[in-house]
Amino acid sequence: MIDYHLHVIAHGDRPMTVDNILAYLEVAKSRGLRQMGITEHDRYLDDIDLAAFQEAREKYQDVELRLGIEIDFVPGAEERMDRDSSALPYDYVIGSVHRVDNEEVDHPQHQEIYEKWETYDLYEAYYKNIRAAALSGRFEILGHPDLIKIFRHFPERDITPMLEETADAVAESGIVVDVNAAGLRKPIGEIYPSRDLLEMFHRRGVPIILSSDAHAPDQVAAGYEKSVKLVHDVGYREVVTFKDRERGTLPLQPE
Ligand SMILES: [Zn+2]
Ligand SMILES: [Zn+2]
Repeated sequence: MIDYHLHVIAHGDRPMTVDNILAYLEVAKSRGLRQMGITEHDRYLDDIDLAAFQEAREKYQDVELRLGIEIDFVPGAEERMDRDSSALPYDYVIGSVHRVDNEEVDHPQHQEIYEKWETYDLYEAYYKNIRAAALSGRFEILGHPDLIKIFRHFPERDITPMLEETADAVAESGIVVDVNAAGLRKPIGEIYPSRDLLEMFHRRGVPIILSSDAHAPDQVAAGYEKSVKLVHDVGYREVVTFKDRERGTLPLQPE
């Protein structure tokens, strides 16, 4: 199995040293992972220590190490996104929507956006950004595609048509979806994407990766019993892998 979206530097919590990377790899090995991809937030790009990464990759043979980055998708910031997503020899690039009108939707201390917006309109604006991120062609992977549910603000109106339109755009784009277990650790208490949205992706042949979005070593592959069961129940039998931005696959082994 793979964990393709996680953070060592996280939010400035620790430097990217060989030892810190090895601490993540040890947990990855103990949880049966074949590959682990480090994907720091783009704002920590300058703190990525490529030499430490390469040393850890050579030293540790039990789990294959990959390098990615998580780009914060903001319409209008194309220059910044292009610069950051070509700054290092990444194996893949994740594009994630964390913002609507440049305001974060997932900050626990700043949830004002949910007061300001009518919830349905906020969802529409959020999924519009998701579709734009997928269709931008900038990213191999679309990060946590229904992050907007994080604090359990749900519109009263049915959002099924909105999700279907989004699944259509994602399928058309050819992007791979991040099945991200971090939601299990948040107020929503469920994986991103929801089962409904994941089923829409599956029906359209959209491929997936698995991730924990770990921000600490003990979170590597956390929640994987649930993720693996979910994707298997929905009908997935393989996950996508990347090396030097070339796509491969690995069979999914149910727990
Ligand atoms: Zn994210
Ligand atoms: Zn992340």
